Amino acid sequence: MRLLLVILALHLLCLNRGFAWGFYAHRLINRQAVFSLPPEMMVCFKPHINYISEKAVNPDRRRYAVKGEAEKHFIDLDIYGDSAWVKLPRYWSDAVATFGEDSLRNSGIAPWSTYQTFLQLTRAFEQKDLSLILRLAADLGHYIADIHVPLHTTKNYNGQFTGQYGIHGFWESRLPELFASDYNFFVGKAEYISQPQAAIWETIARSHVALDSVLGFEKQLNDRFPEDKKYSFEERGGINTRVYAKAYSQSYHQMLSGQVERQMRNTIKMIADFWYTAWILAGQPDMGTDIVLPEEKDSLYLPDESLKEIRQHDSSFNAPPGPVWMNSGTARYFWPVVRKYRERRPRFLLTG
Ligand SMILES: [Zn+2]
Repeated sequence: MRLLLVILALHLLCLNRGFAWGFYAHRLINRQAVFSLPPEMMVCFKPHINYISEKAVNPDRRRYAVKGEAEKHFIDLDIYGDSAWVKLPRYWSDAVATFGEDSLRNSGIAPWSTYQTFLQLTRAFEQKDLSLILRLAADLGHYIADIHVPLHTTKNYNGQFTGQYGIHGFWESRLPELFASDYNFFVGKAEYISQPQAAIWETIARSHVALDSVLGFEKQLNDRFPEDKKYSFEERGGINTRVYAKAYSQSYHQMLSGQVERQMRNTIKMIADFWYTAWILAGQPDMGTDIVLPEEKDSLYLPDESLKEIRQHDSSFNAPPGPVWMNSGTARYFWPVVRKYRERRPRFLLTG
């Protein structure tokens, strides 16, 4: 029986892995970015807006299926000392020469790989490969969104070193889910970015500087908020799930004074700017031809057993389960058992 509980708990941890910005916010962000594009690009992007939006979460789904994916979503700037964003080499080859590839990958490679995806998108525009354009545009949207999340720039990514476990999903999933419907996402027209690589590093730097308030305000709030009012239970996909209580979330959101909205708006603008810049650099190819997008196989995202130890960069206790695990044979078998068990004994398994 004890073994069964351990297995169930382990699987629950897997099932409960969160995702950067949460699936909800990633989809919303990619969708909104389309509306900033000029008409010449809109002819291709608008008819596929659902694709761009849905596929915004693909990079997170790949994290458990593709080696080398997980580290593209973050960078632990703090391990490089003060003002790391100024000191770190801009070129990947220089960075590898200085730190070694393994060590770089361990601490996250988001700034370099985001730029690589941008270059790939530019090439796809040059080749006028529309299905590749849309796929890479969706991917790039995801990576740009991730570097706007302050907790993606620190080794204390889930508050695990400061007694704030769960803050990752709190900031990037719970707050947008509760409050994004009131945000203003009109960010204006896409603009040409003359130095995309520098823009990526500036974004990383700004996100890192914002960490102080992300962690500091939650700490303050936690100290003065009644402990028994901090969490509540909500039903998620038929499961009674522990979440940060609405009043607690509301207070935190107020203390952050628009930070989540600002970061979402900046993300949307930067994605549109980067799509547009890639198109300009490719010589503004005619995007008028429509295409039928190939169906994607779910098997692409089946977990790779050798990757099960990958760092759970954005784990949180309150995010919905990832579809990747729902697709795996193991999860299919365990999910109903876990669900049944959680319904019966929610407290035992839900304590973060
Ligand atoms: Zn991500």
